[in-house]
Amino acid sequence: MMSISVVPIRTSGNNSPTETNSVRPYGKAMKTRSVFVVTFIVFALAAVIGLLGVHIVATMRDNTNVIDDHRALRAAEAALFSQKSRLSATVRDNAVWDDAYKAVGAPGAEDWIYGNWGKTSADYPLYDAVVVTSPSGVPVAAYWKGQSFEPMSRFGEQFQDHVQLANRPGSDAIVSFIKVGSEAAIVASQAIQPFSLSDPSVASPLPAAGQYNVLSFVKLLTPRTVASIATEYQLEGLRISAERPRGMLAVALAGFASQPVAFLAWPSKAPGTQVFREVYPFVAACFLLVILFLLCVLFAGSMEARRMRKLASHARMQATHDSLSGFLNRLGLMDELQRLLHDTTDHPPIHLHLVDLDGFKPVNDAWGHAVGDRLLVMVSNGLNTAHPELRALARIGGDEFALVQIGRTSPERVASAILEVFRRPFQIDGRTIEVGASIGIADGHSLQGVQDPHELLRRADVSLYEAKASGRGRFFVYDRALDQERERVSELEAELRRAIAEEAIEPLFQPLVSASTGVLAGVEALARWRRKGMEISPEVFIPLAEKSGLIDPLGLLMLRKAVRAMQRWPALTLSVNVSPLQLCNPSFATEVMALLEEEAFQPCRLVLEITEGVLISNPDQAKRAIDALKKAGVRFALDDFGCGYASIGALRQFGFDRMKIDRSLVVAADKDEAGVEVLKATIALAVALGIPVTAEGIETGRQAAVLRDAGCDMLQGYLIGRPMTGEDLARLAAKSAKVA
Ligand code: C2E
Ligand code: MG
Ligand code: MG
Repeated sequence: MMSISVVPIRTSGNNSPTETNSVRPYGKAMKTRSVFVVTFIVFALAAVIGLLGVHIVATMRDNTNVIDDHRALRAAEAALFSQKSRLSATVRDNAVWDDAYKAVGAPGAEDWIYGNWGKTSADYPLYDAVVVTSPSGVPVAAYWKGQSFEPMSRFGEQFQDHVQLANRPGSDAIVSFIKVGSEAAIVASQAIQPFSLSDPSVASPLPAAGQYNVLSFVKLLTPRTVASIATEYQLEGLRISAERPRGMLAVALAGFASQPVAFLAWPSKAPGTQVFREVYPFVAACFLLVILFLLCVLFAGSMEARRMRKLASHARMQATHDSLSGFLNRLGLMDELQRLLHDTTDHPPIHLHLVDLDGFKPVNDAWGHAVGDRLLVMVSNGLNTAHPELRALARIGGDEFALVQIGRTSPERVASAILEVFRRPFQIDGRTIEVGASIGIADGHSLQGVQDPHELLRRADVSLYEAKASGRGRFFVYDRALDQERERVSELEAELRRAIAEEAIEPLFQPLVSASTGVLAGVEALARWRRKGMEISPEVFIPLAEKSGLIDPLGLLMLRKAVRAMQRWPALTLSVNVSPLQLCNPSFATEVMALLEEEAFQPCRLVLEITEGVLISNPDQAKRAIDALKKAGVRFALDDFGCGYASIGALRQFGFDRMKIDRSLVVAADKDEAGVEVLKATIALAVALGIPVTAEGIETGRQAAVLRDAGCDMLQGYLIGRPMTGEDLARLAAKSAKVA
C-alpha cells in the first residue's frame, strides 16, 4: 500500500505571510500552554469558591432548621408536661381531702360525689370526666360532662391498671394518656385519703394500700385544647394524630405502659429553608454571575489560546517558508526530509534535486533586485509544475532550489523536465532574460539507514558541484566516487596547510631575457611543492589554496623566498605571480610593502603578475591595491593575455606596466598565418599604447623570431630556460650567456 503525506505544492509564487513575527514557534507553544494553565486555575478557583458558597448557605439553612426543630420539640414536651401537671395538681387537691375521704366511704357517697365533682364536670375547664373507683376496682360513681357513664367500657382495661397503681396513700398522682374513642385524653388518679394521714380523728387505723377509693379526673385533648397549646407554645399546625406522621415533627403521648396512645404532631417551621427561599434568587443570581464569569474566563482563555495558536502557526509558517516563492525554506525542507526519511510506511523512492541557477547574478547586477526577484518567482512557478512527482519544493538560497521527488520515474527524466523550465528565456517587462540551471541529485534510499536529511542535502550538493564543474545546464547523480575524490582533496588540503606552515614550498626561477640582446634580464618565480617525492603542479595546488583560504600565507611565503633568493642578483627583476584573491584582500598592499621593507628589496625590481579574473570580479579593490603598490615603485604585468576576456582597455585602465602574451597565442601562431597575424596585431596594439610585451611559452627558435619581429621585448620559455633552482640560476647568471 502506498500512503504518504507531503507538504502541499504551492501554486502561486507570492503567497507569503505578510506579518512579521520573531517569536519562535516553541515560545508560542509555551505561551498557549500557560494560557490554558491560567484559565484552568481561574476556572478551578472560581468553581471551588462557588461550591464553598453553596455549601455554606446549605449548611446554614439545615442547621437553622435543626435548631428550630429542637426548640419546637422541647416546647411540645413542655406543653404536655404542663397539661399533665395541672391535672395532677387538680386531682391531688380533690383526693387528699378529709371531707372526701369520709364522704366517699359513707352511705350517700354517690350524691356527695355528684355534688362535688360530677356536676362540676359538665362545664369545668380542668377536667371533662370524674370516676371514683372502689378498692375492689368497681366504679362507685362516674360522670362525663355531668352525666353518669360507664367508665370501664369507655376507657378499657388500661384504666383499671391505672387506677390500681394509684391505689396507695401518700404517693403522687398517677398521670398518663389514654385513648377515648378516637380521641386522646389525660387521666390523673390518686387514692382518696385524709389530708393528714397521722390524724387519728379522721381515720384510725388507716387502710393498707389497695384498700382506698381512687379519684380519677379525665381531661380530653380536644381540638380547642390543642389549638390553645399551639398558640401558647408557638407550634403552628399542631394536631393529634393516631400514627407518627411522616415528614412532621411529633412527640408521643405515652400511655399507662409507656406505649404511645397517640402523637402530638406539627410541621417543622424550617426557618432556614424559609430564609433560604428568600435569599435563593440572590444566591442563584450570584451563582449565575459566577458561571457567567467562568464562561467569560473560558471564552477569553480560548480566544487567547486561539490567538496564540494562530501566531504560533504563523511564526512556524514564517520560520519554515520562503517569503518570495512561498516554497519551504531550508529549515522547512529539513523538517520535511526528516519526516519523509523516517516514515517507515512503504512509499515510493525519494530523490532530492538541488537546482542552482546559472547566470542569475548578472541578471541581479544588470537589472536590479526587483527584476531578480520577479525572475525567481517565475522560476518558482515553472518548477512548481515541472513534474508531478516533485512533491515538496524549497528555496534554500538566493538562486538555489531543492525539490523532493517522490515516485518511480527515473531521477534523470525528472531532472530533464526541470531543465526544460529553463529552455526558453523568461520575459519580464519586455526584457528577455536567459538563465540556466545545474542540478545535483541524491537518492534518499541510498542512504543505507543513515536517514539524515543533512547527509542527503550534502550529497545533492556534491553532485551539484560536479554538475557545475562539468559544464552548465547539466545534472549529476550522486556517486560514492565523488566523496572519495573529495576526501582525497581534503587530505591534500591538510598536507598543503602543513607544507605552508613548514615552508616546504619552494620557488623555481624561469629566466626572462631581452628579445633583442638575449641577455638575462629577470626571472619569474614559480611555486613548486614536492609531496612524497612527487612534484605537484601549481595548476593543482594554487586553486586548492585559493579554495581553502591558504592563498594569502602561500603567496607571501613565495614572495619572501623569491625576494631572499634574488638578493644575490641585484641587476635582475623578479616576477611573482599573484592570485586574484590575494589582490582582493584589503591588507595585501601593506603586507607586500612591509615584506619588501623587511627584506630590504627595492620595489622597482618587483613585477607582480596578475590574471584578468580579478579585474572583472572586483575591479575597485584591484585598482586600489595596484595603485598603492605602483606608487611605491612595484610594477604590474597582465599575465596570460589572450586566453580570456581582458581588453586592451583594461591594460590602460589599471595602468599595467607590461603584458604577457599567453602561450596559446604563441602556439596558434605556429599553426597558420592567421595566428601570426592575430599575434602581431595584439602586440602592435600594446606597443602602440606604450606597454611592453613579454612572450611566454617559447619553445622554438622560430617562435622566438616571430615574436621578436612582432615587437616583444622580452622572451620566456623552455627554449631560453625551464623553471630552475637558485643554484642553476646562479650558473646561468654567471655565464650570462646569450641564449637567443
Ligand atoms: P604562468 O604564470 O603563466 O607561468 C607560466 C607557466 O608556463 C609555468 O607553469 C611554466 O612552467 C610554464 N612554461 C614556461 N615556459 C614554457 C614553455 O616553453 N612551454 C610550456 N609548455 N610551458 C612553459 P607552472 O610553473 O606549472 O605554473 C602554472 C601556473 O601556476 C602559472 O602560470 C601561474 O599562473 C601559477 N603559479 C605558479 N606559481 C605561482 C605562485 O607562486 N603564485 C600564484 N598565485 N600562482 C602561481
Ligand atoms: Mg606568470
Ligand atoms: Mg602566463
